[in-house]
Amino acid sequence: MSFLNHFSNIQSTTIKTVAEEFGTPVYVYDENAIREKCQKVLSMPNAYGLSVRYAMKANSNRTILQIIHQCGLRIDASSLNEVRRAHLAGIPYQDIILTTQEVPEGQDRLDLEQMMLNGLKYNVCSLRQLYLIGDFAKSNDIPLSIRVHPGVGSGESASRNTGDNYSCFGIHLSDIGQAIAYANEKGLKFTQVHVHIGSGADPEMWRQNIDRELKIVEDYFPDAVTVSFGGGLKEARMPYEKSADIEQLGNYAKTQIELFHKRNNRKLKMEIEPGTYIVANCGYAVTKIIDKKRTGEDGFHFIIANGGMEINARPIMYGSQHPFYMISAKGELISSEFQVGELAKSDYEAVVVGRCCESGDSQSLDANDVSVPRKMIEPDIGDYFVIGGTGAYCSSMTPFNYNSHTQIPEVLFTADNKLKLIRKRQTLEQILENEL
Ligand SMILES: *Cc1c(COP(=O)(O)O)cnc(C)c1O
Repeated sequence: MSFLNHFSNIQSTTIKTVAEEFGTPVYVYDENAIREKCQKVLSMPNAYGLSVRYAMKANSNRTILQIIHQCGLRIDASSLNEVRRAHLAGIPYQDIILTTQEVPEGQDRLDLEQMMLNGLKYNVCSLRQLYLIGDFAKSNDIPLSIRVHPGVGSGESASRNTGDNYSCFGIHLSDIGQAIAYANEKGLKFTQVHVHIGSGADPEMWRQNIDRELKIVEDYFPDAVTVSFGGGLKEARMPYEKSADIEQLGNYAKTQIELFHKRNNRKLKMEIEPGTYIVANCGYAVTKIIDKKRTGEDGFHFIIANGGMEINARPIMYGSQHPFYMISAKGELISSEFQVGELAKSDYEAVVVGRCCESGDSQSLDANDVSVPRKMIEPDIGDYFVIGGTGAYCSSMTPFNYNSHTQIPEVLFTADNKLKLIRKRQTLEQILENEL
């Protein structure tokens, strides 16, 4: 009997059961771990109130949304379809904010209006979005949120930095004057100011953003009652990484918001929008080892799993490192990077790849797309290869139909230790059904 790691409620024998009952590849999510993460973020220190929104693009499965909403988190949606999905999961529009690059037209625009009348908060992200919604918001007396582009960002890679000049999320500081002039002319109110600097941000940059954003609120937004610092709270997937310190960041924000109150006599409520932090380490991708190869004396040992980039694209997209677990066909934990003991003695190193015709279909890539073998205990064909840290931006983001593979199922390991299928495996017919 062994748990996969110190934060998991899932044991190696459970992985075997999941694989046998639902087939591989398959995602399995740890409900208790998700609930613990929700409690953790909700306990973030704050001055005059805290609202936590889950950035649902991280993992948008209906059951996951329901669990997280039930824990007391609200929702940050990145598209109109995400709003629709959250609402179909039973989440009221009042609990959802829309922060999007989309500019809804036609039926989408009509739907957006209806949603806003029912309480959806619209976080305008461009001057065009603002100009298009201005009259409607004014005539229905709906206050808006505004996403400000601060000109400075931070993320685990350039492609996850959303605040620097090469990314275009939000209304840039240099255009804020125009946004405010328009709002004043129309009599519109911005009751919320929002900045999201990127995913996996450096905690120091996150702190600096608190200062910068409060200054922006002070200088430009007299009607703001809520300040959203966005998401991007770093979650350590690998043993050598360090997670954001919620307590420390909260205490820093609390102090700064209290100082803001002293200067301006305004009590700002704080909002945060974590995605990764909530679900990343609550998910595992379970695959089966189907082959092994070598590329000569100077080459590598390769292990071929029956799932790769089409179930976890983060290595090929970002050079992300995920923890590896090898579990025998009998359900014993053979190797885990969190339990170094046996592993330290092993001199076996291998590159784990998937079955796509793509040389980048590897779970062992570095930031330059170079394959880097990882130390492990050598598994046998038929053993299970489990990729940790796959609760966020895996199921929701992979090119799952590449090579005509089918989208894989999702299973929940429930709070009372049961296995529950929460999304079925896609069929080949479903891939084909819209072809004419
Ligand atoms: C993606 C996103 C988040 C969540 O980012 P994480 O790094 O997953 O915490 C929060 N807010 C906005 C606006 C986003 O686009």
